[in-house]
Amino acid sequence: MKTGYLIDMDGVIYRENQLIPGAERFVSALMAQGCPFLFLTNNSAPTPEDLCVRLRHIGIQGLSPRHFYTSALNTAEFLSETHPGCTAFVLGEGGLLTALHDQKIANDAIRPSYVVVGEGAPTMERLSKAHECIERGARLLATNPDNWCPVSAEKTRPGAGATAAFLEASTGRRAYYLGKPNGYMFHRARHKLTELARGEVRDVVMIGDTMETDVRGALEAGLPSYLVLSGSTQMEDIGDYVYQPTRVLQSVGDLVEEILTGKGSDRLNSPVYQEGDAKATRIVGNRHQTDVLAISKPRPRPAMTK
Ligand SMILES: [Mg+2]
Repeated sequence: MKTGYLIDMDGVIYRENQLIPGAERFVSALMAQGCPFLFLTNNSAPTPEDLCVRLRHIGIQGLSPRHFYTSALNTAEFLSETHPGCTAFVLGEGGLLTALHDQKIANDAIRPSYVVVGEGAPTMERLSKAHECIERGARLLATNPDNWCPVSAEKTRPGAGATAAFLEASTGRRAYYLGKPNGYMFHRARHKLTELARGEVRDVVMIGDTMETDVRGALEAGLPSYLVLSGSTQMEDIGDYVYQPTRVLQSVGDLVEEILTGKGSDRLNSPVYQEGDAKATRIVGNRHQTDVLAISKPRPRPAMTK
């Protein structure tokens, strides 16, 4: 039995279409050791096939669409499980439309059961239509709560959370947010990872670069989390949060040796992890000792998620 990995993508594997150093060796090590893994993303715009091609172009070979689980797939599974036969008016891109279509959820612009908001830039005309649908009784659902998403080190773009907030303001209705950190995302992802490994998963670790989604979601799902500093979070930000990662790593490159040899690395370990004590890696919820760095500082942006 192997440890299984749920792995965020943006800020962990790549950034701005550039592979993060060590990411290719990390994925190769997982494949060489037969460790089950699943890429977990809140981006509802691409399909698993799109993501597979994208990773191939930037240098990661040997993946198939079954290695990806998006917030669009999560939303479609949620609706098909909780409300079979429902219909939806969708503000979103191909990944979301395809996922809903695959779960037999019909598009409906007249009297839909749900308005489903995903990543993408809706026109005012589509937003007005969604507003009217909600006024006629449709419930509001978003694929993920991200108010903004990183585009580059200096640039961000509005996320699905911001679009849903627009409709919350105009209609007075509250949205329900799927994707990370929602427990349903982690519940379905774990299920998919177990299927992928044909039941051969010892325990599951979440690796991500965002405190609000990856680390919080893992903690609430009872999973250990490894925060990597190759994306949106700096070391000095970590102490601001109530929830803390189990370990902090510079990048997924720090895990390569550990995966290949099975021997724990001591690079940037949190205090709850001790070399040779495999059980200690599974302690969830202990605070990382970074509070000393949590000096008061201005917040340039609103919170990344709700
Ligand atoms: Mg990320």
